[in-house]
Amino acid sequence: MTTPMIPIARPWMGEAEAEAARRVILSGWVTQGPEVAAFEEELADFVGAPHACAVSSGTTALHLALIGVGVGAGDEVVTVSHSFIATANAVRYCGATPVFVDVDPATFNMNPALIEAAIGPRTKAILCVHQMGMPCDLTAIVPLARRHELAVIEDAACAIGSEIAWDRAWERVGRPRGDVACFSLHPRKLLSTGDGGVLTTRDAALDGRFRRLRQHGMTVSDRSRHLSLEVVAERYETLGYNYRLTDVQAAIGREQLKRLPVAIERRRALAAGYGARLADLPITLPAEPAWGRSNFQSYCVRLPSGSDQRGVMQRMLDAGVATRRGIMCAHREPAYHGGGWRASGSLIESERAQESCLLLPLFHDLTDADQDRVAQSLREACALAAVTL
Ligand SMILES: *Cc1c(COP(=O)(O)O)cnc(C)c1O
Repeated sequence: MTTPMIPIARPWMGEAEAEAARRVILSGWVTQGPEVAAFEEELADFVGAPHACAVSSGTTALHLALIGVGVGAGDEVVTVSHSFIATANAVRYCGATPVFVDVDPATFNMNPALIEAAIGPRTKAILCVHQMGMPCDLTAIVPLARRHELAVIEDAACAIGSEIAWDRAWERVGRPRGDVACFSLHPRKLLSTGDGGVLTTRDAALDGRFRRLRQHGMTVSDRSRHLSLEVVAERYETLGYNYRLTDVQAAIGREQLKRLPVAIERRRALAAGYGARLADLPITLPAEPAWGRSNFQSYCVRLPSGSDQRGVMQRMLDAGVATRRGIMCAHREPAYHGGGWRASGSLIESERAQESCLLLPLFHDLTDADQDRVAQSLREACALAAVTL
């Protein structure tokens, strides 16, 4: 008898989502219509943002955010290499140059102390990431950006439901405190529609720009044409894209939103469960800063330097436990070997984090017994891979 594999992630979906999709499929309106509008309103309400605009992915959300704040060819955007490659790619889609700064090893997020040195005459924006759901230090980043008249875009792909303390009160990521926050609805994130993304902002004009850009630059939406009693002629005033979310996906998203508070609670409990099980190992566990609360989209542990990361992962896989290495560094990938980016200072902490971190399985229906197995296999793998215990 073989023990079943514990995967790294698994979306939490059920009959409610299946029923929502069915309802839309039979309704006669299947893309960017009433369900998208309702989903946007409900998500805006959840994060506390005046505006939310749904799009086809987290990546297309980032692309529109950058265009929206005016990033174009020849501009520079200060960001991190230590992120999913979509973060830096979105800057390159605009013909702009990502300027990478290193991360703070305590949070794996942009180190605010390194930003000033990265700012030059062509810098237009700061694109910071709430990596793995752990909030980045926005209370330092936003005032610094304002001093330099730079836009702040938050890559909140992983951070739906994460919280930041502002003036001693907790608020959810995405209000946003920067100019735009971008969420992903990919199945690796807490709220999924299969694929999808959302941009939130306080700026009505920016929100309007996102709405035109997501639909070929059209001045009127399909829905307002459909509802109009007069003939409406649309115009195409800017170069736009087809970045629409479908109504089928939005209906699934509305059900996922209802689950979200419970999903976040569960993640936090599971993270605490790992904390208790792994406390005696010579590894570094994720620690929330005083001003931030993670939704624990991922649970990332750090092996002691010099450990055989790949060996540990392989031994765990042999024991039926899937893991992932630490967050990638875009600048090390072949797609970045030909240039198109620059580093401001050393990226050593980013590279070290990639080489020494390990993501453990974390999903809603992970059981106590699963967590025991993960902890046991990590303990054995560390011992066998000759980590000094
Ligand atoms: C997932 C992710 C993205 C991309 O989102 P998609 O919806 O997959 O396009 C961007 N940035 C970060 C940090 C992510 O984790």
